[in-house]
Amino acid sequence: MTKYLQMTPEDLEIAGEIVRGGGLVAFPTETVYGLGANALDVQAVKKIYVAKGRPSDNPLIVHIYDKSQLADIALSVSADAEKIIDAFMPGSITIVLPKKSCIDDCVTGGLPTVAVRMPSSHEALAFLRSCHVPVCAPSANTSTRPSPTTWQSVKEDMDGRIDALLMGSDCKVGIESTVLDLCGEQPTVLRPGIVTPNGISAVLGKPVRVVTNPKEKVNSPGVRYKHYAPRCPMVLNLDGNKDKVLDFYRRCEQDGYNPVILTRYPRLYPDCSTWYLGTTDEEVAHNLFEALRRCEKKYDYIIACYNGTGEVAFSVLNRITKSAGQNIL
Ligand code: AMP
Ligand code: MG
Repeated sequence: MTKYLQMTPEDLEIAGEIVRGGGLVAFPTETVYGLGANALDVQAVKKIYVAKGRPSDNPLIVHIYDKSQLADIALSVSADAEKIIDAFMPGSITIVLPKKSCIDDCVTGGLPTVAVRMPSSHEALAFLRSCHVPVCAPSANTSTRPSPTTWQSVKEDMDGRIDALLMGSDCKVGIESTVLDLCGEQPTVLRPGIVTPNGISAVLGKPVRVVTNPKEKVNSPGVRYKHYAPRCPMVLNLDGNKDKVLDFYRRCEQDGYNPVILTRYPRLYPDCSTWYLGTTDEEVAHNLFEALRRCEKKYDYIIACYNGTGEVAFSVLNRITKSAGQNIL
């Protein structure tokens, strides 16, 4: 049985007890909902992989509520890391540092490094504070599904599989944190997010590498797996060619599907079923995963249209192309 908890001091205390007792608690952050366990308790950490059906070599992020906890987790904090911590923590960035031996291989997928994040969400910080221990957490979805950005979406995937769910606010950002590897020769963005390479580069005063080729062998195993996928088929149009989208929509109908066009411009398709994605890239980031989860319930073929450019759009594209399984129209 999963306990449904409010963000009250009493319920936060219960959530903290569950984590210290080796249980799993889903909690809100500003990026997406996380599925937390005591990062220092190997048996608890293993439960995360079981609840999610997550491959065991896909490492977890260790969440902290106070910068002083870094010293318990990371073997060393470089000068670059100090600058990033000062500039962006708390915030939607995760930094990869050499790990201390108290962080078990099952947290890091066998890597000698650990990913650390301090969320900016007050709800997340209140939960982490009530745990008193570092909390490792991936997104609180079943493996391969879109990340949950509302507690209702966590419930959909995790009801009965976890000990408790904190029913907090909807996530403001909507896509996962930027993952920045600070262990190599050059700072490298392994996963794009709303903290952008240019912003990082400005703080560090040096160029930042961004992993763009999904086939590149990088130190972030998570990027290899099927990700963010809705239950129904999905295709992605990137060139804004309306006629091509309409033509595909009609062919879906002829094949007996009930398709939907997921778009920033629903008015372009007055005779079709549409779903509004938001206008700015930030809005699209905020809406994307929830839109996929809603559309899969009402329709059975998602035709997504997105042609944003710029740094936030790059992060959205990283997610939406994976959702579509690289299926480009
Ligand atoms: P998720 O929690 O589902 O958002 O996934 C966590 C992400 O952080 C995955 O893409 C991991 O590959 C990445 N990550 C976690 N720990 C490490 C690490 N030690 N080195 C590199 N990437 C990591
Ligand atoms: Mg995830």
